[in-house]
Amino acid sequence: MDEGLGSGLSGRPGEGLYGRLKTYEGKATGSVGVGRDLVNEPMIRHWCEAMGDTNPAYRGPDAIAPPTMLQAWTMGGLSAQTDRADRSGAFDELFRLLDGAGFTSVVATDCEQEYVRELRPGDRITYDAVIETVSDRKTTKLGTGHFVTTRMDIHANGELAGTHRFRMLKYTPVERNAGRDKGARRPRPVVNRDNAGFWDGVAGHKLLIQQCDGCGELRFPWLPGCNACGGAEWHTVEASGTGTVFSYVVMHHPPFPAFGPGPYAVGLIELAEGVRMISNVVGVPYDKVRIGMPVRLEFLRVDDELDLPVFRGGDD
Ligand code: ZN
Repeated sequence: MDEGLGSGLSGRPGEGLYGRLKTYEGKATGSVGVGRDLVNEPMIRHWCEAMGDTNPAYRGPDAIAPPTMLQAWTMGGLSAQTDRADRSGAFDELFRLLDGAGFTSVVATDCEQEYVRELRPGDRITYDAVIETVSDRKTTKLGTGHFVTTRMDIHANGELAGTHRFRMLKYTPVERNAGRDKGARRPRPVVNRDNAGFWDGVAGHKLLIQQCDGCGELRFPWLPGCNACGGAEWHTVEASGTGTVFSYVVMHHPPFPAFGPGPYAVGLIELAEGVRMISNVVGVPYDKVRIGMPVRLEFLRVDDELDLPVFRGGDD
């Protein structure tokens, strides 16, 4: 946890700002009401058409509403946005408190829904919402702040039908110039179980392409399954290292010192094997890069922990 912070921004419950924030947990957000319309077939049909969802469960005389429509039944429409008089103010108050402490930015981070009972045409929707939790101070890539989670309970004919949790981060943005110092490190690749083999290959200066065991389709970037046949089994083939510039952009602004001084060319490279990947085009002035230019793979030593595949243009 955050030790050694100023007393006004303690990370421990019961003290300072955090203690005040915690008092909002359980308070009504002020979002309470009755759905404008009963659950109805036209809204279900419009939703399914917009989503491209052709599940037969959402059609016909025994249709149910798609569970993910849960929140749609609570929305007040445009006119409701101008009438906030019925709000209790706890949510707005909490946000003012966070603003005052310097957490002036907000970003929605995720939502979770739980479905308790099916919704059917004719159901009458009522809802209410509480501030469920306020986290202690967390530091993310965006900045430091507090996660605020609200929970809306949605009832159908008085019976709990589902809950909708919505999480936001109220935060102090990282200084815009942070990371622009000399020596800023190039961002690390996000390595997960689906792409670890690719990065292992890069560490050994091999560019590995996945090939489906089922149908032989090559794929890049790495994915757990085959887009052509759905097969989950695969092996790798090593790229020969030759390719051409399929397309490219030249990066001028904003500057990212970790990527070196600009301008520089970023290419979409079509490998001789047929798959495409994005990487820097090196060895050629940025304004001499052209579509169709032959390139050859090489590995750039970025720092003592990271090598990256890049493509050298030119005549050799
Ligand atoms: Zn396949």
